[in-house]
Amino acid sequence: MQVVTTIAELRAQLAPLRQSGRTIGFVPTMGYLHRGHEALVRAARQECDVVVVSIFVNPLQFGPTEDFESYPRDSEHDRAILSAARADFLFQPAVEEIYPRPLVTEVAVPELSHSLEGRTRPTHFKGVATVVLKLLHIVWPDRAYFGQKDGQQVAVVRRLLSDLDLPIELRVVPTVREDDGLALSSRNVYLSPDERQVAPLLHKVLVRGREAAQAGSDGPTVQAAMEALLRQEPLVRLDYAAVVDPDSMQPKHELTGRVMLAIAAYVGKTRLIDNLVLDL
Ligand code: AMP
Repeated sequence: MQVVTTIAELRAQLAPLRQSGRTIGFVPTMGYLHRGHEALVRAARQECDVVVVSIFVNPLQFGPTEDFESYPRDSEHDRAILSAARADFLFQPAVEEIYPRPLVTEVAVPELSHSLEGRTRPTHFKGVATVVLKLLHIVWPDRAYFGQKDGQQVAVVRRLLSDLDLPIELRVVPTVREDDGLALSSRNVYLSPDERQVAPLLHKVLVRGREAAQAGSDGPTVQAAMEALLRQEPLVRLDYAAVVDPDSMQPKHELTGRVMLAIAAYVGKTRLIDNLVLDL
């Protein structure tokens, strides 16, 4: 695996491969890689001739009181994982490489960015949309791989690609979980042993929500049931439980077709998110 830190070098490396007809798969990450990220890399490896992974902790998508500075980082471990998963290129730029001067251009998908995550993290998806578009223009892949774990991010990126006519296929990889249901996340490292024990509650509540939806409950009823279950656990502080259309992020009343159940909650000080997409 080649490690590349500049935009110019990555473009120089990829251009001849693209010209010779090789397909390029791209997996954007913020590092501190786990089996969830690995699943994305393996999916890309299966489908593409060349696999590019980026590790970039994007300051633009963190709010002023969020964990940008303390976000976990472990380059050596990440490189070992990516070599084992047979990535071809690791693009690991410094912040100054991506943002050499303050941006005056905005990339935003406001319709999909203000609900759910956007209520607590109002500038988050603007930062995501901006960096994703920049990275896609740098790598120019045939396919880009994202995890269902970040369901609203998937909706934002899907709409961005469509609205701006980017000829890049979006691949969505199912959420990888621990045996007890907890979705793998780089932020799980923040959990104390007690918090780690209760953290699978998010997934349990989603499963209960799915059962209620499958039994015919409407959106508000499923949402209220999930909220009530989360409020029973003293170590968990609910941010939101929602029942939405997975493309528009709008609340769904009648539960038919594709439905996303989504939860965000603080376990101790750590904010965790999870979701399930149902086809009813
Ligand atoms: P991050 O490093 O948290 O920005 O995540 C990079 C990519 O990995 C995103 O597309 C995430 O949705 C995806 N991802 C993170 N955790 C998981 C997981 N548990 N299962 C599947 N994909 C994941």
